[in-house]
This record gives sequence, structure tokens and C-alpha cells, in this order.
Amino acid sequence: MKARIGLEIHVQLSEAGTKLFCNCDSEYRRYRPNENVCPVCLGLPGALPVPGKRPVELALAAALALNCEPPRALVFTRKHYFYPDLPKNYQITQFEKVGGSPVCTGGYLDYLSPDDWEWRRVRIRRINLEEDPGRTSYEGSILSSRYAYVDYNRSGVPLLEIVTEPDLKSPRDARVMVEYLLLTLEYLGATNPRLEGVFRVDANVSLEGGERVEIKNIGSTLDVERALRYEINRQRLVLERGGKVERETRHWDAERGVTKPLRYKEEEEEYLYFPDPDLPPVLITRDLLEAAREKVAEWSPRRVYEEILGLGVKREVAWSITSVPAAARTYLAGVKSGGDPGILARIVGVDLKGELREQGRDPYNPGNWPEPGKLAELSRLVAKGEYTYDAVKGLVLPKLAANPEAPLEELLPEKVEDLEPLVEEVLKEEEKAVKDYLGGKKKALNYLVGAVMRKARKRALDPRRARELLLKRLEAMKTGA
Ligand SMILES: [Zn+2]
Repeated sequence: MKARIGLEIHVQLSEAGTKLFCNCDSEYRRYRPNENVCPVCLGLPGALPVPGKRPVELALAAALALNCEPPRALVFTRKHYFYPDLPKNYQITQFEKVGGSPVCTGGYLDYLSPDDWEWRRVRIRRINLEEDPGRTSYEGSILSSRYAYVDYNRSGVPLLEIVTEPDLKSPRDARVMVEYLLLTLEYLGATNPRLEGVFRVDANVSLEGGERVEIKNIGSTLDVERALRYEINRQRLVLERGGKVERETRHWDAERGVTKPLRYKEEEEEYLYFPDPDLPPVLITRDLLEAAREKVAEWSPRRVYEEILGLGVKREVAWSITSVPAAARTYLAGVKSGGDPGILARIVGVDLKGELREQGRDPYNPGNWPEPGKLAELSRLVAKGEYTYDAVKGLVLPKLAANPEAPLEELLPEKVEDLEPLVEEVLKEEEKAVKDYLGGKKKALNYLVGAVMRKARKRALDPRRARELLLKRLEAMKTGA
């Protein structure tokens, strides 16, 4: 039974700097309740909304990144409903059916699936720019709480509502697409996908012969996959037992891992939509469009990934670098300043990134990465054979991850210039391995090389040279010299 999946993704433009219609902060999480507010986002009488420049620019850039033809003007509409977290009793959004004009209709996104390294396409039906409501919270559950607490710090934060066509084929496919979409928006500097509650997903899914079911309230990309998997199994069971899948809206309960029916559904008309008389259309000027176009062209996951592939890097490593924007910037700047593309890719995309994670330092934070020139230099030292990659990986990268500011000279391990004394010691101590080798067990040589390396302790030595020296001495023993 084939599934058809479409998504509605709400993403806050957390990096916009301001809310959509006032100058309060778009990143509200750092404030105490009701601290990040003003008359506009509190909906006080007489306060007038003014569209912010950055939110509009970012929304436009998102529309272009999703291959939409942008409109000549943005027109905002009011969507009415009563809820304590909505102080004006309406939300400003863009509803095209009543004369609203969204930032995008009819686009598409090509996204990379790291499962099979194929590019897939999902059509984008529409993107709206709207304001996020405030937050209501309770002590325990809504039923047992004595009070409802309302916090307007989030009220008015710019929010993109991105609606896809039902082109997605599987729960995994849907998850991969959302992850790629979030990365695309992160590259634009529009959002930080790792902030708590920064995006929410509603999914609709139908199986052949069944009605469309909508799932609300999915809060992570992992849960996109889990919720859809659960829901598809549920629908399949209903159909296999000869039942009918009803058209309905369900709620994702992440803790229990199930979808549950929602009691009632508001019809679109109940919202009493109409164009907001406080907000004249926002004209999309040529300058605005050009600025957005440049932004999209110079820095996107696809462009970066393909540039790294073009340097001869394996796709797994290229994607590992691309998927962390701070790593991608470090890598490309390192190559530009003369780093060895292959060795640098291993450092940035595999071992230093892994070391940062190991030490609990966030690889998405640009401040945790060393200056690109330093890594470029390190890669050149390996390329020239001054140090082995293993010595850099084992002795330098852990220190660099702990202190990205440390100068390279202090981090580079002391080198063992004179290997011969170490080789002699090992030949004396490892009688059995020597005998094995002379008796024809070639593998014993690896053990002896390892023993020399261990003798070097925290100093770096060249294992190829150690092997050569050992061989020379062993062959001499064979011939009895
Ligand atoms: Zn405000």
C-alpha cells in the first residue's frame, strides 16, 4: 500500500533579529516571561504594526531558495480566533483566498537523501509569512492546573508556514526532507533549527483506498518519522480489517508514541479572514529581490556540497561537512588558504567534528572551530609527510577541540628524529615476535612497528620509517650479518 504524504512546516525566523511587526527580539528564549514585549506585540489599542525589513528579506530569500516566483507585493490578512495567547484576537497571516498574497506559491525543493545519495524533489504549494502567537502554560495538565499562565515573549515572532504537495513517499523520506529544508533555511541565516520549539510540523497522510488524515503537533524531525510510521500502520490495519479510514485530524503524542483523534475541527470560514486594514501591501522592489537572490546563490547546502565533492572528497564526508554550516565555512576557507582538500576534509568532516562532539562542544557553534588557516597548515604538514595523519588525529585534534585558540606550535607533538635506538630496544625486548618474523610470520612485523610507536609515547614518529628500519635490521639478522 503506497502512502502519500504532505507536510505543513512552521519555522520561526529566529535569526531575523526583530519580531515581524515591531522591534522586539525574534529570539525570545533568553528573556523572563513577558519581558520581550511592546504595545504592538501585546496588541494594545492604537498600536500599529510596521513590517520589519529583515523578516521580509529572509522570507523572500526563503521563497527564492525554494524556487518560487515571488509576488509583486506581500498582502497580509487577519485570521480571527479567541485564545488568551493571541492578544489582538486575530493573527496576522497571508490567506490568498481573501486577497492575501503569500511570499510564495508553486515552488519546489530538491533535497539530498543521505540514505541513497539521490536528489529528490518535493513541490512547494505555498509559503506564508505570519506572526507566532504567545504561549500558554499550565501547572501539570490543562485540567488540573489552577491557573493558566500567558507569556507574550513569543507573540509576533516571524513565522514561515511552508506547505508541500503530497509528494513524499515514506516517513523516512518526510524526515529527510524536513532536515534538508531546515538546513537550507539555516544557510540563509534565517533560523537556528536547534532552538527549542523553533519549528513544528503537521503532516497529512493517506493510503490508497483511504481518506486523508492530518497529524498535528510534531516537534522534531525524528518525530516526523515516528508519527508517520505509527499513523501509516494504524491506517493499514483499519483497511486490512475491511474498515474505512475516516477523514480526520489527529494529535501526535510524542511521549506515548501514538496519534489520537482530536475532538473537533474548526472550518476555515470560522476564522473570518480579511485583508488587514492596518497594513498596506509590502512592495517587493527590485533591490530587495536582488539582495535576496545574491544571498541564495552564494551560500546554499547544494552549492557547498557540490563544491566539496568537486575537490575529490567522498560524498559521506562532503555531506558531513555540509550539514554543519560552521564546519562548511571552516573547510572552504581552509582550502582557500592553501590547505590540502583531502586531508582537511578528514580533519573537519570526521575527526575534529567527532572530537568536538566527544568533548561536549557544539560543532554548530562557529566559536568552537579553530581558525581555518591553522587547520590548513596542519593539513599541509601531513601532506608533506612531516607528521602522520594518525599522530595529528591522536595528539593534536583532542587539544585543538578543547582549545581552538591554542597556537599550533604548542600543539604539535615533539618528533622522534632518531628512530634507531627505539628500534634496537624493541628488537631486544620482543624476542618472540622477532623469532616469529624470522620463522616466516610476516604479520609479526606489524606488531613490532606498534611496539616502536608505543615506545615513542606522546611524541610523533613516522611509522613508515620505523617499518623500513625494522625490515632492514630483520633482513640483516636473517642473513646472519
Ligand atoms: Zn513588540
